[in-house]
Amino acid sequence: MLKPSLSIKEEEGETRVIVGPVINEDMRALMAANEMRLGKKIVFDFSEVQMINSVGVRDWCLFMARLNSAEVSYENCSEAVILEINMVCSFKGKAIIKSINREYECLDCRTKAIVHLNAGTDFDRGKLPEPQAVSCERCGKGSTPVTADDELFLFLTATDQDS
Ligand SMILES: [Zn+2]
Repeated sequence: MLKPSLSIKEEEGETRVIVGPVINEDMRALMAANEMRLGKKIVFDFSEVQMINSVGVRDWCLFMARLNSAEVSYENCSEAVILEINMVCSFKGKAIIKSINREYECLDCRTKAIVHLNAGTDFDRGKLPEPQAVSCERCGKGSTPVTADDELFLFLTATDQDS
């Protein structure tokens, strides 16, 4: 069974928190134990997050509400995290999404790939990004995104969010 973890590092003027690999009912104790260490500028790195359950979603939303006065950004958001942000607006709180790790898969040989997308260059608020052509590392054929553009990038076009 995967267990949640928060790995916290102080970097120049900010706190970097690596979150993973699951956000579930066991995450709450970790949040409570570490909340005081987080400071006013926080970067959450979600590259390792694979699974989020409903208790985890609720607790994460409450956590974000408590961090309301901090400057929060989300980096390397896995698809599990982006799909949660799309469904539950408060999962993001006031955080700024800096980057996404999008999943691709070759339909021919099933080789998977992660494509790193940066805010401002690869995606922007208000519109769906241009689809990226990704070639399979193994067979060279075109890879296909695991999640469709309009589903994954819903957070960019949703009108009920203000940031
Ligand atoms: Zn392939």
